Amino acid sequence: MENKAEKKIIPMTSIDSGIGEQITSDLYYFPFQIVNVVFYGYPGEGNDWVLIDAGMPRSGDNIIIEAEERFGKNNPPKALILTHGHFDHVGGITELIEKWGMPVYAHELELPFLRGEKDYPKPDPTVEGGLLAKISPYYPNEAITIDGHVQALPQDGTVPFMEGWRWIHTPGHTQGHVSLFREKDGALIAGDAFVTVKQESLYKVFTQEQEISGPPRYLTPDWETARISVEKLASMKPMVAITGHGRPMTGKTLRENLALLVEKFDEIAIPDYGKFVDDK
Ligand SMILES: [Zn+2]
Ligand SMILES: [Zn+2]
Repeated sequence: MENKAEKKIIPMTSIDSGIGEQITSDLYYFPFQIVNVVFYGYPGEGNDWVLIDAGMPRSGDNIIIEAEERFGKNNPPKALILTHGHFDHVGGITELIEKWGMPVYAHELELPFLRGEKDYPKPDPTVEGGLLAKISPYYPNEAITIDGHVQALPQDGTVPFMEGWRWIHTPGHTQGHVSLFREKDGALIAGDAFVTVKQESLYKVFTQEQEISGPPRYLTPDWETARISVEKLASMKPMVAITGHGRPMTGKTLRENLALLVEKFDEIAIPDYGKFVDDK
């Protein structure tokens, strides 16, 4: 497999990089450089587990080491579930498939981007934001090709190997973006539907200062749809959210911040200028 999006070394990091944290008894988030992956499953040698998202380019080895520490060696995940196919969520995927050979699931609208059929829109360096937006042309937007391994999430909303969870279609950031939700304890894996750090700002990404934000601006082409997705997630009243970027947010802080994001979506999320808003 040859995937351009996985070759680039992206020299960006945060102070949390490599330091994972247990969020619920069966959810663990692992930040690497500037993006989070999630391990679902109770820790312990040989326990079943599922990986959500595949990190930055060249992060595969780090994900493998972390997973082996948590679930033991020679214990591949039952599946990899992708919230979407952006380069910073599929970066380690080839290494992971080579090592583990697990099935990969994504929303059917995301499949063309994972089968080399369609590229994402080019990132927008002119968008209002910060330095990470300015250097975003450096980010790969090309589709990756993992044909034989990826399949559509089940139509009935269930998530393979994740009992009690359902996937929620949350488009806007990408067409086939999904978030994962567990009713029982209100746990939400939000991908980039919203994030808890101002992802355009080099400084804030580095320090991981918590701040509710819409989806990363330089890669979000459809803001009205993104707004509806945030409203949908807020209405489910999650108790804990692990987002694709930034530190997990919980309880009252999460509820208040999500309500604020819904109320002031124009101000907080939508950039004042940039190609995806000026086109409209
Ligand atoms: Zn994204
Ligand atoms: Zn992302």
